[in-house]
Amino acid sequence: MRVQFSSVIGQHHLKNLLIQQVQSGKISHAQLFYGDPGYGPLPLALAFVQYLFCEDRNESDSCGVCSACKKVQDLQHPDLHFSFPVVQSIGKTSDLFLSDWRKQVSENPYFDLFEWTNRIDPKGRKPIISVEESKEILRKLSLKSFEGGFKVMLIWLPDEMNEQCSNKLLKILEEPPGNTLFILVAESPENLLVTIQSRTQKFLVPRIDLEELSSMLKTQFSKNNAQSASIAAFAEGNFIKARGLAEDAGHKQLHRERFIQLMRVCYKKDVIEMLVWAEELSQDGKETQKLFIQYALHMFRQSLLQNYMGEDMISASVDEKVFLKNFAPYITGGNIREFISLFDDSYYHLDRNANTKILFTQLCFQTMRYIHLG
Ligand SMILES: [Zn+2]
Repeated sequence: MRVQFSSVIGQHHLKNLLIQQVQSGKISHAQLFYGDPGYGPLPLALAFVQYLFCEDRNESDSCGVCSACKKVQDLQHPDLHFSFPVVQSIGKTSDLFLSDWRKQVSENPYFDLFEWTNRIDPKGRKPIISVEESKEILRKLSLKSFEGGFKVMLIWLPDEMNEQCSNKLLKILEEPPGNTLFILVAESPENLLVTIQSRTQKFLVPRIDLEELSSMLKTQFSKNNAQSASIAAFAEGNFIKARGLAEDAGHKQLHRERFIQLMRVCYKKDVIEMLVWAEELSQDGKETQKLFIQYALHMFRQSLLQNYMGEDMISASVDEKVFLKNFAPYITGGNIREFISLFDDSYYHLDRNANTKILFTQLCFQTMRYIHLG
């Protein structure tokens, strides 16, 4: 994902303010962008830096192709420095995590501390910005600017700075080295020293306009109007939440297709296709496999309801209802118990790290037997 203004979702008012700042040449040397990470303070800050460094900017965005733009996009610009929370028992300073940082930002600049922690530490220990880091900040800012313009120090989540580091940072902000621009990207300013806050120009990054978010979901996750509007509203203008919801809906679609496929090949007794099905599922992540089993259990119960209570009782989407109508007759008092215990057992074994290829192959063969019992 690129980080130009055009790729930041919504936030037109702030974009205009930042553009004006650069165009007027009145750039305050310490700026604080704050708001929920899902509203996009980091992408906005990065787009601003790129606009500032761009050699061929226009009235609304950086060019995206000049050498300065490319360096910012790769997070390799020699005058752009980063500082962010890191797990101290792995490494004390941000530089040791730079490749993770570049990867995270290029894959997806909308992320929060939770996602970042998961990326850098499988044990999930809490990352902080320590006093070692403040020394690094000082060292970097004492260097001359490589390209002759601003030196930018972007600090992501100063919320997580320890006290010693905050005090050091305050000293630097009180007497900033020449041509230095500090950009602090925080979740909430209350976590910062009041004396630090008062030395910055503050930009509150509000929730994303729901229409902007919705139209973005429509293109990026190929949702229809109704789906994207409902996800945007449910996520309350937060892109991180919205993305989670949109991806979850995508999985549900995948489970449904898988389930239908399983029933189809087992009904036809197509052994080769059954093996292909088992192989495919066994290559998925464990969480996805577990969700699939849960989905299948849900569908069996819905089929039973359909048979005994009629269509009105079941909770399923329109597509699922069509499928259930055709499928439900095969689920009867003669096999429902078997199906439910088969899938329950599979879940149990999955949770205990069974060999998934064998597990799903057996699941297919049992399903084939049971479906013909109905
Ligand atoms: Zn450019």
